[in-house]
Amino acid sequence: MALPQLDIHTISQVDASSIDSLIGNTPLLGFRKLTAHLPENVRIYAKAEWMNPGGSVKDRAASNIVREAIRSGALTHDKILLDSTSGNTGIAYAMIGAAKGYRVKLFLPGNVSPERTAILTAYGVDIVYTDPLEGSDGAIRGVRALAAAEPDKYFYADQYNNAANWQAHYNTTGVEIWKQTHGSVTHFVAGLGTSGTLMGTGRRLKDYDAKVQVISLQPDSPFHGLEGWKHMQSAIKPGIYDEFLADRDIGISTEATYVMARRLARDEGYLVGISAAAAMVGTLQVAEEIAARGEEAVIVTLFPDNAYKYLSESFWKQ
Ligand code: PMP
Repeated sequence: MALPQLDIHTISQVDASSIDSLIGNTPLLGFRKLTAHLPENVRIYAKAEWMNPGGSVKDRAASNIVREAIRSGALTHDKILLDSTSGNTGIAYAMIGAAKGYRVKLFLPGNVSPERTAILTAYGVDIVYTDPLEGSDGAIRGVRALAAAEPDKYFYADQYNNAANWQAHYNTTGVEIWKQTHGSVTHFVAGLGTSGTLMGTGRRLKDYDAKVQVISLQPDSPFHGLEGWKHMQSAIKPGIYDEFLADRDIGISTEATYVMARRLARDEGYLVGISAAAAMVGTLQVAEEIAARGEEAVIVTLFPDNAYKYLSESFWKQ
């Protein structure tokens, strides 16, 4: 029996370089119940970033960082890709490293969710745990010390200071949002981790239309449960973060986020991660204020990942 002929697209998907081509072009989601109290002319949409092959928005940044490092010669096959991460960037590096044949070593805060550690272990990456009390800053300090001690052995990707991080969003996320809303977007709302998402997407949307309002979200206190987000006033400030890009900054509470995570799952069928729920809290606040003023808006936010890595959290049980 003759084997069926594979078309060229099927073949190219198993090619090592094509992992990049699976990243991005995520759907833009609408809502039913959560937005039912808003007038017709105040709309909310969210990019479903868990549709990326590594399961999060960080596939975009990691793939651009790796591509740029290979292009510039900073990453060669005799070097180990090194960085600090709270999880998602690490998962993206692990996937891309495996696909392209690079070894990966990651510094993680000791309290990252067990699901994240399990995924990284499955990909076979080398993990160094830092003091959980120091959070992501402890991981940053640890990785900097190793990169400085053995510069020839490692390519230190440094997502917090690498322009390829925000440029990934300038070249993809921002363009996609503009096209998917047919240029009607008026507000972009996103949380801050490295700030790559907000910087790159915000800059691109403002380049398309300077009137687009960019709103950054942060945890409302230094001690919070919003994994992936940074409280900028009390944390090591990322080099790529420009605090003057956003037109407005809103603090989000962990408690309101947990309530929203359950509502998104139960009222909309979107089983999203904690930072996605936090983004929705901020986005709804913005939408309600606009509606109260009687104005129109097309507000876009971004759901960085889904809930699969956070299912051990007890707030789901309420
Ligand atoms: N949410 C989650 C779950 C993340 O992993 C990250 C990345 N740390 C972010 C939000 C923030 O994205 P960015 O680094 O682009 O600011």
